Amino acid sequence: MSEFLPFVKPYIDEATIASVAETLRSGWITSGPKVLEFEKQLSEYFGGRPVRTFNSGTCTMEIALRIAGIGPGDEVITTPISWVATANVILEVGATPVFADIDPVTRNIDLDKVEAAITPRTRAIIPVYLAGLPVDMDRLYDIARRHNLRVVEDAAQAIGSTWQGKRIGAFGDFVSFSFQANKNLTTSEGGCLVLNNAEEARLAEKYRLQGVTRSGFDGIEVDVLGGKFNMTDIAAAIGLGQLPQLPAITARRRELAQHYFATLGADFEQQTGAQLPPRNFEISNWHMFQIVLPEGIIRADFMAQMKQRNIGCGVHYPPIHLFQLYRERGFKPGMFPLAERVGRSIVTLPLFPAMTHQDVERVCVAAREILKR
Ligand SMILES: *Cc1c(COP(=O)(O)O)cnc(C)c1O
Repeated sequence: MSEFLPFVKPYIDEATIASVAETLRSGWITSGPKVLEFEKQLSEYFGGRPVRTFNSGTCTMEIALRIAGIGPGDEVITTPISWVATANVILEVGATPVFADIDPVTRNIDLDKVEAAITPRTRAIIPVYLAGLPVDMDRLYDIARRHNLRVVEDAAQAIGSTWQGKRIGAFGDFVSFSFQANKNLTTSEGGCLVLNNAEEARLAEKYRLQGVTRSGFDGIEVDVLGGKFNMTDIAAAIGLGQLPQLPAITARRRELAQHYFATLGADFEQQTGAQLPPRNFEISNWHMFQIVLPEGIIRADFMAQMKQRNIGCGVHYPPIHLFQLYRERGFKPGMFPLAERVGRSIVTLPLFPAMTHQDVERVCVAAREILKR
């Protein structure tokens, strides 16, 4: 039997491992020169916009909401199909999450439904680019402009994705990225926030570290309640090793996704009733390759049968509004039927740079066998 194939595996080269060891020996292991260098290189990558790094891609969104002054009494619109962090940050700042159902083809928030969900209390939109596929960015920012809303892009999965030739993060309002272990670019844990100006960057630094502003040799002042969200130089060393490889990582993922489509064949959807992802090779970074199983196939059974064939799968994601924390706030089954359908049946197949074409073919054979009618 073939070796176990996980659905994701980080790609860290020996030079990066050596630079982490060198950092550990340097005597400076928390935020320091590596963090400053990583922020400088990220800023260059995002077309010169201000960038600050953090210890997660969750706190980046929370801090963006705080910088925007969003809190109790304010509504923030987001998608039910995301990692729960996306909605949790809205609760964290005391604001009210409002969900808008998804487009079942892209599996991203439906912008028509965003517009319909806007009330006089709406202050921001948090779109999510599931599997790295952006929403219609022109339409998103047109809605934001017309209704005077802030946008906190949850681009956790979208580093390397583009819109009309421009990198996600190189334009727009707040753009948040995660460098968690499974993401296309990782620092083991971490994240960054792309900001609009120096004033926002200064606030981000304060919220990142206990609200502290330092001046002179011994001056210290605290005027806002900040947390403890700084990235370490150890994590930044990993990021500095990963960033130059991002174009190759993205190209490899695109190529493997293309091989999935070619191997599954044009009749796969018809023969199995499963839905493939949209073929947006130009704009998506192919963070994941996800299929939606047909009604009648229980996802846990499909995953168990893949596991028997030594293939790992993932679930990204069950609908957020059906978690107890959200049900307690009035959300119920039936409110977002398209998200509920996709959330019940979506499954992530293996996709990571070190996979071979043979691995892809093995996954395709297994999926076809299990789903054949
Ligand atoms: C990974 C992820 C997050 C959270 O990032 P962390 O770095 O784990 O805090 C948020 N939203 C989405 C869509 C993600 O994929």
